[in-house]
Amino acid sequence: MLTIEWTQTEGWRAPAIQPYQNLALDPASCVFHYGFECFEGMKAYKDKAGKVRLFRPDKNMERFNKSAACIALPTFSSPALIELLSRFVKLEERFIPEKRGYSLYLRPTMIGTQKTLGVSPPGSALLFVIASPVGPYFPLGFKAVSLEATDHAVRAWPGGVGDKKLGANYAPCVLPQLEAASRGFQQNLWLFGPEQYITEVGTMNLFVAIRDKETGQKELITAPLDGTILEGVTRDSILSLAREKLVPEGWRVSERKLTMASLSEASEEGRLMEVFGAGTAAIVSPVRTISWKGKPVDCGLSEHEESGEIALRMKGWIEGRQYGDEEHEWSYVC
Ligand SMILES: *Cc1c(COP(=O)(O)O)cnc(C)c1O
Repeated sequence: MLTIEWTQTEGWRAPAIQPYQNLALDPASCVFHYGFECFEGMKAYKDKAGKVRLFRPDKNMERFNKSAACIALPTFSSPALIELLSRFVKLEERFIPEKRGYSLYLRPTMIGTQKTLGVSPPGSALLFVIASPVGPYFPLGFKAVSLEATDHAVRAWPGGVGDKKLGANYAPCVLPQLEAASRGFQQNLWLFGPEQYITEVGTMNLFVAIRDKETGQKELITAPLDGTILEGVTRDSILSLAREKLVPEGWRVSERKLTMASLSEASEEGRLMEVFGAGTAAIVSPVRTISWKGKPVDCGLSEHEESGEIALRMKGWIEGRQYGDEEHEWSYVC
């Protein structure tokens, strides 16, 4: 593990890479009482030549600093942390499987360690990074999931912190997910407000491909970054790729609000082409149905399909850049 301690008076201490071990923390540490914790999720990949690569690590570091700053934790120089991660993954290179779809998952974390029961900015903090080899999310190929639209609980709200990767945002999401699971759904879809805007699926961003009612124009839609949506690196990558490769094919690419009612209408009229989640773990996760008000909304896959075309192509394009098949500025060679 990589660890770096911080104190208000001395700033960041020297980073250390040390064997994985327990942390020793005072029970009054503010992380245990008031949720002073934020994290990142990213992966290190090994390419065909054996080089170790990170995917858009600047994006993760930028988000990590935003998350830390919003709970009064210190920030860390983004290029310096990328350099540290780079040394860490090179040192632990033997834990990065070489096969396509495999990688080393990295979990940068920051906690407030100040021992106080007073609610105040932490005077000390610990940044640590742990890692684990991971395999493909869909080892046997895509398996489209069924979602349940949740309208009784809210994941994030305007002016809140749902757009940050704070640990405190995740614990309250487990129960609605468990309830959806008890009814046979793999994930829940978070709707927002009386308009029932589609926001995110579980801990992934959501993409919807629709054909326009009047013009037949094909449109790839995801929710805008209005403060209720986590700024996914995968989301951003999909939007860039769509603008680069799908727009020339005649697609429209939109970051806009979409209601569950209009998605359901598109489905009924046969205009809903596909729906998929997007995040680092799976890259893309195709959706077969969304249960809404107790009725299934069909998301455009035929019976024998487990993925739509856009999700499939996006996965290929992103993996190509993650594993360095295509040399691209998104891929950071360690
Ligand atoms: C991490 C996360 C995502 C996906 O972000 P990526 O950077 O693409 O992995 C989406 N939504 C939520 C709520 C998340 O926590």
